[in-house]
Amino acid sequence: MQLSKRNIIIIGGGITGLSSAFYVRKYFREQGLHPHITVVEQSGSLGGKVHTLHRDGFVIEKGPDSYLARKTAMTELAEEVGLGDELTTTNPNAKKTYILHDGKLHPMPSGLVLGIPTELRPFMESDLISMDGKIRALEDFLLPAKMDGEDESLGDFIERRLGKEVLENVTEPLLAGIYAGDTRKLSLQATFPQFGAVEREYGSLIKGMSTGRKPVETHTGTKKSAFFTFKRGLQSLTEKLQETLSPDVDFRLHTGANSIVYNNSMYTVALSDGTTLEAEHVIVTVPAFAAAPLLKGHADTTALERINYVSVANVVMAFDRKHIETEYDGSGFLVPRKEGRTITACTWTSTKWLHTSPDDRVLMRFYVGRDGQEEIVEQTDEQITACVLKDMRELMGIDAQPLFTEITRLRRSMPQYPVGHIDSIQNMRSELEQQRPGLLLLGAGYDGVGLPDCIRTARDAAELESKRVKV
Ligand code: FAD
Repeated sequence: MQLSKRNIIIIGGGITGLSSAFYVRKYFREQGLHPHITVVEQSGSLGGKVHTLHRDGFVIEKGPDSYLARKTAMTELAEEVGLGDELTTTNPNAKKTYILHDGKLHPMPSGLVLGIPTELRPFMESDLISMDGKIRALEDFLLPAKMDGEDESLGDFIERRLGKEVLENVTEPLLAGIYAGDTRKLSLQATFPQFGAVEREYGSLIKGMSTGRKPVETHTGTKKSAFFTFKRGLQSLTEKLQETLSPDVDFRLHTGANSIVYNNSMYTVALSDGTTLEAEHVIVTVPAFAAAPLLKGHADTTALERINYVSVANVVMAFDRKHIETEYDGSGFLVPRKEGRTITACTWTSTKWLHTSPDDRVLMRFYVGRDGQEEIVEQTDEQITACVLKDMRELMGIDAQPLFTEITRLRRSMPQYPVGHIDSIQNMRSELEQQRPGLLLLGAGYDGVGLPDCIRTARDAAELESKRVKV
């Protein structure tokens, strides 16, 4: 077989699929190979969950809205495709985040790192935790460390170290919010492995997180910002990837992959339009519930079947600035479960991201739906809007009617990594590696949900695969 004639099929055209195509082309070329790459995407557009809407001068994100700056893979990709100048950071005057507690918004105490107090004074002065809760949290300095490295749930871990109150009032809304999840079900190792490592190294979570706290590195080196996005929205990146790849990559939209058959070192992928494609490499980048039927027969797919996906929706509302009296001084607020509200969080988008709105307008984004509270996603637009307006009135004192509302339902969009996830995915990958060389599984369902995680794993896998082929 001629190495330079290799065919590669990428299943799924989200950020993982697109960055896989980008880095496969790059690294295979570096090895002197010019593979034929096909991306098959079942929907009518590329980008997956990344979707930006431009409406009436607003930049509205219908999926993710930004990414963590300290995870550099996304910035590096943006620079590689020439979008480095399009990056922008959060408004430096909107650093504060609030948490709802007993129906009122409280600023998060300064010094919280991933929901863990690292400065004792602001933590002890905060109204978010009772005195008993604070004393319980300080037991973290005395409690013995768990040294076995075995996985446990994120919620059990935080409660074990800092107590139930810190878990429920601070850490859960902040950390579980990223997954729309339930901390009692999420794997510590797969979500925040650094916590377990800190406990083992320092014996105390507070001590370790304080010692290890580093200033956030930034793209420009000037302003400190934890998050980046693109001035014209995150879709700038997926569109640019499509444009950059188009001369070399065959994009097949409205084309789902139905099955993968392995025979004689070749894979045959059957597509929803009745045709088939053949390739030496297949990169599967779809969610676990879509990957499991494709990989059955190639490896034990129990690990995939264990990953539940939660449905969420986000509700973006635009207002006339003269109808909103409050000047917001933060990026938004989080809503703990026990507050019993419909919304799980709110971003004051036009304050957090100055580029998103005309000066005389205000943009807000509300999140609804999380593990155990998914029914709201299936309600009508009118019902969802009414619930959000009620929460907004009661929590923020705003009675204004929006100029327009954009509701986006993202069904089964948030993977919930179960306890033991890392090991079970690793076992499955080892089986694939031995039995099915060239068949890879990548994406948000497996190695981290953040956009930079998806890009980093796609990049690393492409590099490794290019070297494996050359050998
Ligand atoms: P997807 O985007 O799901 O792409 C998979 C693609 O595969 C889809 O286009 C799908 O149509 C296609 N597909 C499925 N089955 C098949 C098949 N059989 N054949 C062919 N194609 C198929 N991350 C951040 O870093 N920052 C954020 O601010 C952020 N906010 C988020 C907010 C929400 C509401 C959600 C849902 C996620 C958020 N995330 C955020 C996470 C991040 O958006 C996702 O983890 C990431 O976009 C997933 O990319 P992916 O390519 O792995 O999967």
